[in-house]
Amino acid sequence: MTDTTDRSATPPARQTTAYLKDLFKQVGFTIDARRGQNFLVDLNLLDLLERSAGVTPADAVLEVGSGTGALTERLARAAGRVVTVEIDPRLAQLARERVIECDNVHLVEGDVLAGKHRLAPEVLTAIEKARAACPQGRLLLVANLPYCVATPVISNLLALPRPFDSATVTVQREMAERMTAAAGSHSYNALSVWIGSQCRSEIVRILPPSVFWPRPKVDSAIVRLDLEPDRRARIADLERFHGFVRDIFCHRRKVMRGVLIRMAGGKQQPAAVEAVEAVYAAFGLGATTRAEEIPPDQFVELEREFFQRVD
Ligand code: SAM
Repeated sequence: MTDTTDRSATPPARQTTAYLKDLFKQVGFTIDARRGQNFLVDLNLLDLLERSAGVTPADAVLEVGSGTGALTERLARAAGRVVTVEIDPRLAQLARERVIECDNVHLVEGDVLAGKHRLAPEVLTAIEKARAACPQGRLLLVANLPYCVATPVISNLLALPRPFDSATVTVQREMAERMTAAAGSHSYNALSVWIGSQCRSEIVRILPPSVFWPRPKVDSAIVRLDLEPDRRARIADLERFHGFVRDIFCHRRKVMRGVLIRMAGGKQQPAAVEAVEAVYAAFGLGATTRAEEIPPDQFVELEREFFQRVD
Protein backbone atom coordinates (compact mmCIF):
# COMPACT_ATOMS: atom_id res chain seq x y z
CA MET A 1 0.00 0.00 0.00
CA THR A 2 1.23 3.52 -0.71
CA ASP A 3 2.40 5.31 2.44
CA THR A 4 0.31 8.45 2.98
CA THR A 5 2.02 9.77 6.14
CA ASP A 6 2.36 13.59 5.95
CA ARG A 7 6.04 14.36 6.45
CA SER A 8 5.83 17.86 5.03
CA ALA A 9 4.96 19.47 8.38
CA THR A 10 8.54 20.15 9.57
CA PRO A 11 11.12 21.66 7.22
CA PRO A 12 14.16 19.53 6.37
CA ALA A 13 17.53 20.38 8.03
CA ARG A 14 19.72 22.60 5.84
CA GLN A 15 22.75 21.03 4.18
CA THR A 16 25.24 23.91 4.01
CA THR A 17 29.05 23.82 3.89
CA ALA A 18 29.18 24.89 7.57
CA TYR A 19 26.69 22.16 8.53
CA LEU A 20 28.70 19.49 6.71
CA LYS A 21 32.06 20.65 8.10
CA ASP A 22 30.64 20.59 11.58
CA LEU A 23 28.96 17.22 11.15
CA PHE A 24 32.07 15.61 9.65
CA LYS A 25 34.26 17.05 12.43
CA GLN A 26 31.93 15.62 15.07
CA VAL A 27 32.04 12.12 13.58
CA GLY A 28 35.68 12.26 12.39
CA PHE A 29 34.73 11.78 8.72
CA THR A 30 37.21 12.56 5.94
CA ILE A 31 36.00 12.92 2.37
CA ASP A 32 36.89 10.21 -0.14
CA ALA A 33 37.25 12.07 -3.47
CA ARG A 34 37.50 8.79 -5.45
CA ARG A 35 33.85 8.20 -4.58
CA GLY A 36 32.62 11.49 -5.98
CA GLN A 37 31.76 12.86 -2.54
CA ASN A 38 30.77 16.39 -3.58
CA PHE A 39 27.73 17.42 -1.60
CA LEU A 40 25.13 19.80 -2.98
CA VAL A 41 25.14 22.78 -0.60
CA ASP A 42 22.92 25.21 -2.48
CA LEU A 43 19.46 24.79 -1.02
CA ASN A 44 17.74 26.42 -4.00
CA LEU A 45 19.29 23.78 -6.23
CA LEU A 46 18.21 20.94 -3.96
CA ASP A 47 14.73 22.46 -4.35
CA LEU A 48 15.15 22.70 -8.11
CA LEU A 49 16.32 19.09 -8.36
CA GLU A 50 13.32 17.92 -6.36
CA ARG A 51 10.88 20.17 -8.24
CA SER A 52 12.24 19.20 -11.66
CA ALA A 53 11.78 15.54 -10.79
CA GLY A 54 8.07 16.16 -10.06
CA VAL A 55 7.90 13.51 -7.34
CA THR A 56 4.39 12.67 -6.06
CA PRO A 57 3.25 10.51 -3.13
CA ALA A 58 2.28 7.79 -5.63
CA ASP A 59 5.86 7.41 -6.89
CA ALA A 60 8.77 5.18 -5.95
CA VAL A 61 12.15 6.92 -6.06
CA LEU A 62 15.65 5.55 -6.45
CA GLU A 63 18.50 7.70 -5.16
CA VAL A 64 22.09 6.63 -5.81
CA GLY A 65 24.53 8.14 -3.32
CA SER A 66 22.67 8.96 -0.11
CA GLY A 67 25.57 11.04 1.28
CA THR A 68 24.38 12.44 4.61
CA GLY A 69 20.75 11.92 3.62
CA ALA A 70 19.87 15.56 2.84
CA LEU A 71 18.21 14.79 -0.48
CA THR A 72 16.94 11.44 0.81
CA GLU A 73 14.99 13.18 3.54
CA ARG A 74 13.35 15.54 1.05
CA LEU A 75 12.50 12.68 -1.27
CA ALA A 76 10.99 10.73 1.63
CA ARG A 77 8.65 13.65 2.27
CA ALA A 78 7.51 13.78 -1.34
CA ALA A 79 7.44 10.13 -2.48
CA GLY A 80 5.58 6.96 -1.58
CA ARG A 81 8.78 4.92 -1.25
CA VAL A 82 12.48 5.75 -1.50
CA VAL A 83 15.33 3.34 -2.16
CA THR A 84 18.65 5.01 -1.46
CA VAL A 85 22.05 3.41 -2.01
CA GLU A 86 25.31 4.42 -0.32
CA ILE A 87 28.67 2.67 -0.67
CA ASP A 88 30.47 4.44 2.17
CA PRO A 89 29.47 2.84 5.50
CA ARG A 90 30.24 6.03 7.44
CA LEU A 91 27.89 8.09 5.24
CA ALA A 92 25.31 5.30 5.20
CA GLN A 93 25.23 5.58 9.00
CA LEU A 94 24.75 9.37 8.85
CA ALA A 95 21.99 9.02 6.27
CA ARG A 96 20.31 6.27 8.29
CA GLU A 97 20.24 8.53 11.36
CA ARG A 98 18.87 11.39 9.32
CA VAL A 99 15.92 9.44 7.94
CA ILE A 100 15.29 7.34 11.03
CA GLU A 101 11.74 8.67 11.30
CA CYS A 102 10.92 8.01 7.65
CA ASP A 103 9.45 4.54 7.44
CA ASN A 104 9.17 4.74 3.65
CA VAL A 105 12.96 4.73 3.09
CA HIS A 106 14.97 1.60 2.33
CA LEU A 107 18.69 2.30 2.61
CA VAL A 108 20.90 -0.20 0.79
CA GLU A 109 24.46 -0.04 2.10
CA GLY A 110 26.85 -1.11 -0.65
CA ASP A 111 27.93 -0.56 -4.22
CA VAL A 112 25.03 0.20 -6.60
CA LEU A 113 26.88 -1.81 -9.25
CA ALA A 114 27.79 -5.48 -9.31
CA GLY A 115 30.27 -5.07 -12.17
CA LYS A 116 30.33 -2.62 -15.04
CA HIS A 117 27.25 -3.94 -16.80
CA ARG A 118 25.09 -4.96 -13.86
CA LEU A 119 23.24 -3.30 -11.00
CA ALA A 120 23.62 -4.92 -7.58
CA PRO A 121 20.95 -7.62 -7.02
CA GLU A 122 19.95 -6.16 -3.62
CA VAL A 123 19.30 -2.81 -5.31
CA LEU A 124 17.12 -4.47 -7.95
CA THR A 125 15.17 -6.32 -5.26
CA ALA A 126 14.66 -3.12 -3.28
CA ILE A 127 13.45 -1.32 -6.44
CA GLU A 128 10.93 -4.07 -7.17
CA LYS A 129 9.60 -3.93 -3.58
CA ALA A 130 9.26 -0.15 -3.79
CA ARG A 131 7.43 -0.43 -7.11
CA ALA A 132 5.08 -3.03 -5.67
CA ALA A 133 4.30 -0.63 -2.81
CA CYS A 134 3.51 2.14 -5.33
CA PRO A 135 1.38 0.32 -7.93
CA GLN A 136 -0.16 3.47 -9.42
CA GLY A 137 3.04 5.50 -9.48
CA ARG A 138 6.20 5.78 -11.52
CA LEU A 139 9.78 4.82 -10.79
CA LEU A 140 11.91 7.97 -10.67
CA LEU A 141 15.68 8.18 -10.41
CA VAL A 142 16.49 11.35 -8.48
CA ALA A 143 20.09 11.81 -7.42
CA ASN A 144 23.18 13.89 -7.17
CA LEU A 145 25.05 11.05 -8.85
CA PRO A 146 28.62 10.10 -7.95
CA TYR A 147 30.61 10.99 -11.08
CA CYS A 148 32.50 7.72 -11.04
CA VAL A 149 29.40 5.58 -11.67
CA ALA A 150 26.94 7.96 -13.34
CA THR A 151 27.22 6.41 -16.83
CA PRO A 152 26.88 2.73 -15.81
CA VAL A 153 24.03 3.53 -13.41
CA ILE A 154 21.94 5.23 -16.10
CA SER A 155 22.94 2.80 -18.85
CA ASN A 156 22.21 -0.27 -16.76
CA LEU A 157 18.87 1.09 -15.54
CA LEU A 158 17.86 1.67 -19.17
CA ALA A 159 18.80 -1.93 -19.99
CA LEU A 160 16.29 -3.33 -17.46
CA PRO A 161 13.00 -4.80 -18.70
CA ARG A 162 11.29 -2.11 -16.58
CA PRO A 163 13.58 0.92 -16.37
CA PHE A 164 12.85 4.24 -14.68
CA ASP A 165 9.99 6.34 -16.06
CA SER A 166 11.98 9.47 -15.52
CA ALA A 167 15.43 10.43 -14.22
CA THR A 168 16.44 13.81 -12.81
CA VAL A 169 20.09 13.81 -11.85
CA THR A 170 23.13 15.99 -11.44
CA VAL A 171 26.13 14.84 -13.47
CA GLN A 172 29.28 16.45 -14.84
CA ARG A 173 28.40 18.99 -17.53
CA GLU A 174 30.35 17.11 -20.17
CA MET A 175 28.36 13.98 -19.43
CA ALA A 176 25.09 15.95 -19.49
CA GLU A 177 26.04 17.21 -22.94
CA ARG A 178 26.72 13.65 -24.11
CA MET A 179 23.44 12.42 -22.62
CA THR A 180 21.43 15.03 -24.49
CA ALA A 181 23.54 15.38 -27.69
CA ALA A 182 21.91 15.19 -31.11
CA ALA A 183 23.50 13.48 -34.12
CA GLY A 184 26.21 15.61 -35.68
CA SER A 185 27.22 17.27 -32.40
CA HIS A 186 30.79 16.75 -31.19
CA SER A 187 29.42 15.31 -27.90
CA TYR A 188 27.33 12.63 -29.68
CA ASN A 189 28.47 9.15 -28.65
CA ALA A 190 27.21 5.69 -27.67
CA LEU A 191 25.55 7.05 -24.52
CA SER A 192 23.69 9.70 -26.57
CA VAL A 193 22.31 6.97 -28.86
CA TRP A 194 21.43 4.59 -26.01
CA ILE A 195 19.56 7.34 -24.15
CA GLY A 196 18.27 9.10 -27.27
CA SER A 197 16.68 5.91 -28.61
CA GLN A 198 14.52 5.52 -25.49
CA CYS A 199 14.14 8.91 -23.83
CA ARG A 200 13.41 12.56 -24.32
CA SER A 201 16.20 14.47 -22.61
CA GLU A 202 16.96 18.03 -21.53
CA ILE A 203 19.54 19.93 -19.52
CA VAL A 204 17.57 21.70 -16.80
CA ARG A 205 20.39 23.86 -15.39
CA ILE A 206 24.17 24.18 -15.61
CA LEU A 207 25.70 24.19 -12.11
CA PRO A 208 28.99 25.91 -11.28
CA PRO A 209 31.50 24.16 -8.95
CA SER A 210 30.58 26.59 -6.13
CA VAL A 211 27.22 24.88 -5.44
CA PHE A 212 29.03 21.77 -4.16
CA TRP A 213 31.29 21.16 -1.21
CA PRO A 214 34.05 20.25 -1.73
CA ARG A 215 34.11 22.04 -5.10
CA PRO A 216 34.63 19.77 -8.12
CA LYS A 217 37.05 20.95 -10.82
CA VAL A 218 34.39 21.18 -13.54
CA ASP A 219 30.83 22.40 -14.09
CA SER A 220 27.92 20.05 -13.51
CA ALA A 221 24.34 20.03 -14.76
CA ILE A 222 20.90 18.85 -13.77
CA VAL A 223 19.56 16.61 -16.55
CA ARG A 224 16.09 15.20 -16.94
CA LEU A 225 15.32 12.09 -19.00
CA ASP A 226 11.79 10.89 -19.72
CA LEU A 227 11.30 7.39 -20.97
CA GLU A 228 9.28 7.14 -24.20
CA PRO A 229 7.90 3.59 -24.11
CA ASP A 230 6.72 3.60 -27.74
CA ARG A 231 10.16 4.48 -29.04
CA ARG A 232 11.81 1.98 -26.68
CA ALA A 233 9.45 -0.75 -27.95
CA ARG A 234 10.94 -0.36 -31.44
CA ILE A 235 14.29 -1.70 -30.22
CA ALA A 236 14.24 -5.37 -31.24
CA ASP A 237 16.64 -6.64 -28.58
CA LEU A 238 17.87 -4.19 -25.94
CA GLU A 239 21.05 -6.04 -24.99
CA ARG A 240 22.04 -6.63 -28.60
CA PHE A 241 21.31 -3.00 -29.53
CA HIS A 242 23.34 -1.70 -26.58
CA GLY A 243 26.32 -3.87 -27.59
CA PHE A 244 25.98 -2.85 -31.25
CA VAL A 245 26.03 0.86 -30.42
CA ARG A 246 28.99 0.48 -28.07
CA ASP A 247 30.95 -1.54 -30.66
CA ILE A 248 30.33 1.00 -33.38
CA PHE A 249 31.35 3.98 -31.25
CA CYS A 250 34.51 2.18 -30.08
CA HIS A 251 35.72 2.86 -33.62
CA ARG A 252 34.15 6.27 -34.09
CA ARG A 253 37.10 7.62 -36.07
CA LYS A 254 36.63 4.92 -38.69
CA VAL A 255 33.92 4.98 -41.35
CA MET A 256 31.02 2.86 -40.19
CA ARG A 257 30.95 0.63 -43.26
CA GLY A 258 34.30 -0.95 -42.37
CA VAL A 259 33.24 -1.47 -38.77
CA LEU A 260 29.99 -3.15 -39.83
CA ILE A 261 31.79 -5.41 -42.31
CA ARG A 262 34.14 -6.51 -39.54
CA MET A 263 31.15 -7.14 -37.23
CA ALA A 264 29.50 -9.17 -40.01
CA GLY A 265 32.52 -11.47 -40.39
CA GLY A 266 35.26 -9.50 -42.17
CA LYS A 267 35.94 -8.35 -45.71
CA GLN A 268 37.28 -11.79 -46.70
CA GLN A 269 33.68 -13.01 -46.40
CA PRO A 270 31.73 -11.94 -49.52
CA ALA A 271 28.45 -12.51 -47.64
CA ALA A 272 29.48 -10.00 -44.94
CA VAL A 273 30.33 -7.33 -47.51
CA GLU A 274 27.11 -8.03 -49.42
CA ALA A 275 24.98 -7.80 -46.26
CA VAL A 276 26.48 -4.45 -45.31
CA GLU A 277 26.12 -3.12 -48.86
CA ALA A 278 22.45 -4.09 -48.72
CA VAL A 279 21.97 -2.29 -45.38
CA TYR A 280 23.68 0.79 -46.80
CA ALA A 281 21.48 0.72 -49.87
CA ALA A 282 18.31 0.28 -47.77
CA PHE A 283 19.19 3.35 -45.67
CA GLY A 284 20.65 5.44 -48.46
CA LEU A 285 23.94 5.82 -46.56
CA GLY A 286 27.03 7.15 -48.26
CA ALA A 287 30.28 5.14 -48.28
CA THR A 288 31.89 7.60 -45.86
CA THR A 289 28.99 7.98 -43.42
CA ARG A 290 30.15 8.04 -39.80
CA ALA A 291 28.27 6.78 -36.77
CA GLU A 292 28.02 10.28 -35.28
CA GLU A 293 25.86 11.41 -38.21
CA ILE A 294 23.11 8.86 -37.56
CA PRO A 295 20.22 9.87 -35.25
CA PRO A 296 19.12 7.41 -32.52
CA ASP A 297 15.87 6.30 -34.19
CA GLN A 298 17.71 5.52 -37.42
CA PHE A 299 20.28 3.56 -35.40
CA VAL A 300 17.45 1.39 -34.08
CA GLU A 301 16.25 0.58 -37.60
CA LEU A 302 19.77 0.11 -38.93
CA GLU A 303 20.64 -2.34 -36.16
CA ARG A 304 17.50 -4.37 -36.81
CA GLU A 305 18.19 -4.49 -40.56
CA PHE A 306 21.85 -5.38 -39.97
CA PHE A 307 21.04 -8.40 -37.77
CA GLN A 308 18.25 -9.53 -40.09
CA ARG A 309 20.78 -9.72 -42.89
CA VAL A 310 23.75 -11.01 -40.90
CA ASP A 311 22.27 -13.56 -38.48
N1 SAM B 1 23.16 12.85 -2.12
C1 SAM B 1 24.26 13.56 -1.47
C2 SAM B 1 24.15 15.03 -1.77
O1 SAM B 1 23.48 15.39 -2.73
O2 SAM B 1 24.73 15.85 -1.11
C3 SAM B 1 25.62 13.00 -1.85
C4 SAM B 1 25.94 12.96 -3.32
S1 SAM B 1 27.65 12.66 -3.65
C5 SAM B 1 27.83 13.46 -5.21
C6 SAM B 1 27.69 10.98 -4.22
C7 SAM B 1 27.50 9.91 -3.13
O3 SAM B 1 27.55 8.63 -3.77
C8 SAM B 1 28.59 9.86 -2.06
O4 SAM B 1 27.97 9.81 -0.81
C9 SAM B 1 29.35 8.57 -2.35
O5 SAM B 1 29.91 7.96 -1.21
C10 SAM B 1 28.28 7.72 -3.00
N2 SAM B 1 28.79 6.68 -3.92
C11 SAM B 1 29.92 6.73 -4.69
N3 SAM B 1 30.05 5.61 -5.42
C12 SAM B 1 28.97 4.82 -5.13
C13 SAM B 1 28.54 3.53 -5.56
N4 SAM B 1 29.26 2.84 -6.45
N5 SAM B 1 27.40 3.02 -5.04
C14 SAM B 1 26.66 3.74 -4.13
N6 SAM B 1 27.03 4.96 -3.67
C15 SAM B 1 28.16 5.52 -4.17
